[in-house]
Amino acid sequence: MSYVDEIYAKVVEQNPGEAEFHQAVKEVLDSLKLVIDANEEKYRKMALLERMVEPERIISFRVPWVDDNGQVQVNKGYRVQFNSAIGPYKGGLRLHPSVNQGILKFLGFEQVFKNSLTGLPIGGGKGGSNFDPKGKSDREVMAFCQSFMTELSKYIGADQDVPAGDIGVGAREIGFLYGQYKRMTGLYEGVLTGKGLNYGGSLVRTQATGYGLVYILDEMLKANNKELAGKTVVISGSGNVAIYATEKAQQLGAKVVALSDSNGYIYDKDGIKLDVVKDIKEVRRGRIKEYVNTVPSAVYTEGKGIWTIKCDIALPCATQNELNLEDAKALKANGCFAVAEGANMPSTREATDFFLESGMLFMPGKAANAGGVATSALEMSQNSQRLAWTFEEVDAKLKDIMVNIFAKADDAAKRYGVAGNYVAGANIAGFEKVVDAMMAQGIV
Ligand code: NDP
Repeated sequence: MSYVDEIYAKVVEQNPGEAEFHQAVKEVLDSLKLVIDANEEKYRKMALLERMVEPERIISFRVPWVDDNGQVQVNKGYRVQFNSAIGPYKGGLRLHPSVNQGILKFLGFEQVFKNSLTGLPIGGGKGGSNFDPKGKSDREVMAFCQSFMTELSKYIGADQDVPAGDIGVGAREIGFLYGQYKRMTGLYEGVLTGKGLNYGGSLVRTQATGYGLVYILDEMLKANNKELAGKTVVISGSGNVAIYATEKAQQLGAKVVALSDSNGYIYDKDGIKLDVVKDIKEVRRGRIKEYVNTVPSAVYTEGKGIWTIKCDIALPCATQNELNLEDAKALKANGCFAVAEGANMPSTREATDFFLESGMLFMPGKAANAGGVATSALEMSQNSQRLAWTFEEVDAKLKDIMVNIFAKADDAAKRYGVAGNYVAGANIAGFEKVVDAMMAQGIV
């Protein structure tokens, strides 16, 4: 059995019931096979892959809080500190009922390579809880966040582990978490990113993942003699990533015709009116179906099916495994030629393989959504310097980082004889830097 197959079999055996983690490890290891086979003896002796797939530490804790009826509720809280070879752990906190240890391990594992790709000194981690902020009052969300941070504050710090937002964690939650961290530790430091602008946040952080996604999409299109202007785009989700991907795609001349949430999707043949979506999602915390109340010419469809809409470019920006083989085939049949992932692992393994085999341009989330964490790292730099850069400065740095990520993935794919396979390219480029650092630091 090859080293890669051996490690994958061990991961499945030793991490039962963690399907998403198995899936992420398999995708990464398969695409690294060329590199690993070439260095097998050295890596085996150092148990490099065994160490790579085992988190340095997982903290799991109880989160008790009191709801508005005076009832005590208990949620599960986690922080997976996956790999600190190239910097302090960095990665978001997810609040969603589907959260469990396996999902956070998949996200933390992916984060290690993503963070490496940005070229910035950040290790990989991820955390969260099965708490559902949807339908909760502000006071309930605050009570949960304070209880969660009371425990988490023992394990994080500006030079140790710096969490950020993810699904269900936006400006409101980061504010409550930061307030409690400060209260517990007495430290006013850059321990969280995605903070409000008045207390250490960075301009562009809110827009960063969506903007970065479109910057790297644009780069991939240009490298393949295509352009974004004039193209029709379908985007799933209507949260932070989807909204700002829509904004940047529209600024660059594309027409975005669909958005969704977990209940259904809207289709607006004239192009999505983003101010309407922002009002529904960012101000009123409503559902995407409300869009048709303001724009009656648009159509709302309950349930899945967004990938059957005809488009040139698809940007999945909601959640893991939201786009399967059938969806991938429907996209291709309707003329879609490029897919870039705003969400983490939104395409199933079969869908990803189909994109690559059918010659579609495909940029995996690890590279495509790295603009969020990259701008978080820029927030950390500003906090350390006690300075705030202008919107234009941060945006220019973000764009530069995304252009560089494309170049690294493109170059690594070419070096290993799989030109145009940006999945392999991104994994190889991210992996090389982490391996070098792990080798240099001895058996830790
Ligand atoms: P938000 O919570 O702001 O939005 C998530 C969106 O996806 C919502 O529209 C939500 O709909 C939808 N969604 C969530 N779960 C499901 C589901 N199970 N089925 C269908 N739709 C779903 O999150 P973000 O925009 O921040 O994150 C979206 C993705 O991008 C995630 O994969 C995240 O890990 C990834 N990402 C985010 C980064 C960031 O900076 N925010 C950085 C890098 C990656 P509903 O409201 O109905 O739940």
